[in-house]
Amino acid sequence: IERTLVLIKPDGVTRNLSGAILARIEAKGYTLAQLEMVNATREVLEQHYEEHVGKPFYEPLVEFMLSGPVVAAIFEGNSVIAGFRSLAGATDPTVAAPGTIRGDFGRDWGLKVQQNLVHGSDSVLSAEREIGIWFG
Ligand code: ATP
Repeated sequence: IERTLVLIKPDGVTRNLSGAILARIEAKGYTLAQLEMVNATREVLEQHYEEHVGKPFYEPLVEFMLSGPVVAAIFEGNSVIAGFRSLAGATDPTVAAPGTIRGDFGRDWGLKVQQNLVHGSDSVLSAEREIGIWFG
């Protein structure tokens, strides 16, 4: 069975949207396999975002991810990787379709692309890599 790593970023947690976001994923039929609330460390984020190291948004993104707790979850299900990314919507909440997590809850101003509520793995390889980083 396929697995994916989902993160609810600090904006989602501080806006009290964790339950609503998890409920949408479960309602789609995906199974929650592991769940924890964590204060990420710089080391974990450096591994998680290794493909973005050196990009202009990297350091602000890491600072944002350190700004409050993160909910980390493993969800299981058929095609859960693609299915969750479809549920999350486009990276930019302005263009994320209504009905998606980012489209419905994402904000349309300020640091919206950085503070886009959720992360989901983008391939089987990155899912296994990211699950290792967050759940050891
Ligand atoms: P994720 O991997 O978090 O599910 P994604 O695949 O939609 O999101 P990526 O391109 O992998 O987006 O970027 C990872 C994260 O980096 C984004 O979710 C966002 O928080 C941040 N990010 C990406 N591009 C920008 C940008 N231009 N400005 C600010 N933050 C950005």
